[in-house]
Amino acid sequence: MPETTPLPPVEIAAGVWNMTPGFAYSYLVVGSENALLIDSGMGRDDLLQQIARITDKPVSVVTTHGHGDHVGGHSHFDSVWIGAEDLPMLDDELRAKAHALELDRTFDLGGGEFAEFVALPGHTPGSIGVLLRSRRLFFTGDMICNGTIFMIEGQCDFERFIESMDVIAGYADAVDSLVTCHGEPNMLPVSHAEKQKQAAKRFLDGSLRVKHVESGLLARAGTYYLTEDKLGFFRP
Ligand SMILES: [Zn+2]
Repeated sequence: MPETTPLPPVEIAAGVWNMTPGFAYSYLVVGSENALLIDSGMGRDDLLQQIARITDKPVSVVTTHGHGDHVGGHSHFDSVWIGAEDLPMLDDELRAKAHALELDRTFDLGGGEFAEFVALPGHTPGSIGVLLRSRRLFFTGDMICNGTIFMIEGQCDFERFIESMDVIAGYADAVDSLVTCHGEPNMLPVSHAEKQKQAAKRFLDGSLRVKHVESGLLARAGTYYLTEDKLGFFRP
């Protein structure tokens, strides 16, 4: 990756910041007593300074899944939380300070506001979503994207992915926006889950458009499986 000056954080909703605009987004949710950092993108050297400009509340770190472009700034923190099934994806240094997230626990932001954690397997086995009913936002990691989702053999599971799309769709009454980590726009209606469910079904029945490329997502060779609307999957 070429070294570039990181973009300034962007406030996407009141008290909710995209800390790593660019390729892989991460989000800081500031409550009245505590703050929650959801992923840390590819990392940025000034992450702690940027957070300090926004809040002086204690910050806890939760991880939507174990891919490197979501944990790049975790080194700035003493402890982080991640879905148990994604623990093996972390390198030794990071795994030493990572804790398996208990999905029935909530995170207290203060003022009666809580973040909830929802298992959303499919992209990886330990993918989780962070549900913020108070702000009607659902942070869905790499399970939702307005574009192509990276699906790595041995980590991804299309059957579980389809089940997770139903789980996400089930929150339609509680959520206005699904908040994604890649692509534009990064806030999508809950109805997007149904589109992705149909795309995943078409992957399984072999009816998506298939295109092999030498340099696709992350400059990897692989195959795109896309709908006519360019939604779908990339398999390296
Ligand atoms: Zn990922």
